[in-house]
Amino acid sequence: MPVKRCFYEVLNVTKNADDTAIKASYRKLALEYHPDRNPGDEAVAVKFREVQEAFEILRDPDKRRRYDRYGHAGLSDGMGGGSASAGAEDMMNAFGDLFGSFFGGGGNRKQGGRDLRLDMALDLAEAARGGSKTISVNRKEACGTCSGSGAAPGTRVAKCRTCNGQGVILQGQGFFRIQRPCHACGGRGETIPDPCRNCRGSGRVDVKQDIEVRFPAGIEDGMRGRIAGYGEAGPGGETGDLYVFYQVLPHPFFQRDGSDLHCEVPVTFSQAALGGEIPVPTLLNGPTPIRLERGQQTGEEIRLPGKGMPNLQSKRPGDLVVHVRVETPRNLTARQEELFRELAAIEDKDVSPQRKSFLDRIKDFFTGSGHEGARQTEQPAPGGK
Ligand SMILES: [Zn+2]
Ligand SMILES: [Zn+2]
Repeated sequence: MPVKRCFYEVLNVTKNADDTAIKASYRKLALEYHPDRNPGDEAVAVKFREVQEAFEILRDPDKRRRYDRYGHAGLSDGMGGGSASAGAEDMMNAFGDLFGSFFGGGGNRKQGGRDLRLDMALDLAEAARGGSKTISVNRKEACGTCSGSGAAPGTRVAKCRTCNGQGVILQGQGFFRIQRPCHACGGRGETIPDPCRNCRGSGRVDVKQDIEVRFPAGIEDGMRGRIAGYGEAGPGGETGDLYVFYQVLPHPFFQRDGSDLHCEVPVTFSQAALGGEIPVPTLLNGPTPIRLERGQQTGEEIRLPGKGMPNLQSKRPGDLVVHVRVETPRNLTARQEELFRELAAIEDKDVSPQRKSFLDRIKDFFTGSGHEGARQTEQPAPGGK
């Protein structure tokens, strides 16, 4: 295993640096080492990852405390560190922080194209399955007629005569000379004597493009992804990236907790008392039967392994946790009312220590049979007779 550098050293901050200082230094370094600005430079890419990793730890008060106390060893698995999935999410959020500055227009990549943001809403089933969606994106692309140069085919871009191709001009005299961007060429150092007609010399054209956006099974709300080269073409020909912000919509029936799904299933009083099998919906595979215990209480949980959401890393699905809710009947038929009144009369005599015999009697009421051992698998159709 390679020796790890001290995180404080990586981020170029002191051990007692506060959050603001850490964040500021991180942004500066991340911009400096960003792969888009250093294409193909593996050494810089390593530095970029180091900076990302150090920031992920030092921005989190809990992880930072552990690192301060135990060093890198304090962050390995088994020390109560975040789960792999949380780590990945932090990482993506950290990316989001970084690129937030580009979206705000504060990017200083002069010749590079703008990054684009795309928001994509997924329902829970789509997030569980993973897959792709085709989205129409309006973006600026390098003009095909002039290959992005802005000069009409057969003509050339010329060196700006005002600044002699430098993009800047010097003003003032003696010691007090200052550099200003050249007004004639807008700082590009070039002019276009015969502009391309297709793009009117800008080198870029508006295009509407269908882009296939993929997302992994188990994707979580708030995650972000990058599609390199699908941002806007810049004046210098470089193209920005497309950032996809994923939103996973709430489901009317299932609540997600990591890779587990929770749902509440109403059961009738008699189902809860007698037990039996009832169907419960699953997110992707339709209804599945679950077994209610005799005397199932409201609020009790029934766990269905493997019927939850897939874990983003392992792809193994979590569990479906069914919360049983015993519903008190609202509109009783005459027959149901009769039975409940009879039940109530018995309850007066049988107090809690004799709970078992109490339940046995309910069974007798609903089955009409007096004998033991006839196990109920469905709720008997009540009333009507
Ligand atoms: Zn110029
Ligand atoms: Zn053109």
